[in-house]
Amino acid sequence: TARNSYIGRFAPSPTGPLHLGSLVAAIASYLDAKAHHGQWLVRVEDVDGARNVHGADDHILASLQRCGMHWDGEVTWQTKRYPLYQHALEQLGDLVYACGCSRREIADSQLNQVTHHNQALIYPGTCRNGLAPGKVGRALRVKVPQSPHCVPAFDDRWTGHYSQDLTAEVGDFIIRRADGYWAYQLAVVVDDGAQGITDIVRGVDLLDSTPRQLYLQQILGLPQPSYLHVPVVLNEAGDKMSKQTGAIAFDDGSDPQQLLRSAILPAARFLGLDVQADSIDAFWRAAIPAWAQLLQTLPRGA
Ligand code: GLU
Repeated sequence: TARNSYIGRFAPSPTGPLHLGSLVAAIASYLDAKAHHGQWLVRVEDVDGARNVHGADDHILASLQRCGMHWDGEVTWQTKRYPLYQHALEQLGDLVYACGCSRREIADSQLNQVTHHNQALIYPGTCRNGLAPGKVGRALRVKVPQSPHCVPAFDDRWTGHYSQDLTAEVGDFIIRRADGYWAYQLAVVVDDGAQGITDIVRGVDLLDSTPRQLYLQQILGLPQPSYLHVPVVLNEAGDKMSKQTGAIAFDDGSDPQQLLRSAILPAARFLGLDVQADSIDAFWRAAIPAWAQLLQTLPRGA
C-alpha cells in the first residue's frame, strides 16, 4: 500500500566505516522507504563527541552511494542541530533536573535490588527533589512518572507488541550527559520529530530504547512514528557486530561486483531476502518487490 507521506531515515553514528551490521539496517530502511514510495533521509548521529572518528561520516556516505543507496534531500549532522535540542530542553521545563550521581553511586544503590534482565542501571531518583548536599549537578535527567507507572507500549512491525515499565526498569533518564554532550535518546526524538520521520527502521538492539523515545515524544508533543526493528548481525562470540567490537569494513571503494557479492547480497540474505542479481542496479530492482513480499510475513517476533 502506497503512503506517499512516508519519510524514513538511516541514522549512522560516525564511529567507523559502514560494516555488515550497519549495512543491514541501511538496506532495510532504504527498501522499506522505496517499497512505500517514500523519502529516505540520512542523518549523521555525531552527537556523541567522545566516540566520533574523524572522516567516518564521509566514508559511510560514500559507501551508501557505492551501494546504490541515494538519499533524498540534504544529509544532516546532529552537531549542527544543538539549538533544537536546547529548545526541547526548555520545553521540558520542570520535568528536567540536574543530577550529581556517579555510575558507581547508582550501582551501589542497587546492590540490594533484584537485578533486572537487561542489567541496565535503574536510577533511584536521588537528585529528583534537589541535589544532595555536596553534590555538583552535571548530567540532566528527565522525570519519569512514579504513579501510575509509565509503561509505553507499541506494535513493532517486525517483532510485534513491545512494552517496558520505565518507572521500574529505567527510572529518570539522562537527556544531557555529564560530559556536556546531548544524549542519544533526546537527540534522536527531537530530530525524528523535526524531520517529520513517519517510519523508523533500525536494528533490534535499539528495541529497548524505544519506550524512552515514546515517552519523550509524548512529553514534547511529537507524533509517534511507526517502528520496525530488524535482526542484528552477531559475531562468532554472539555480540552485536558493531564498530566497537571491531567489525571489519567491507568497502574499499574498488570493485562493485565485489561489493555486491561480499556485502550487499549477504546483508540481503541475512534479512531473509532471496534475491539473485549480477549487478547492483539489478539487485535493487529485485529487492524492492522482495521486501514488499517479506512485509506480508510480519510480524514474526523478536
Ligand atoms: N545512531 C544509532 C546507531 O548508529 C542509530 C539510531 C537510530 O536509528 O535510532 O546505532
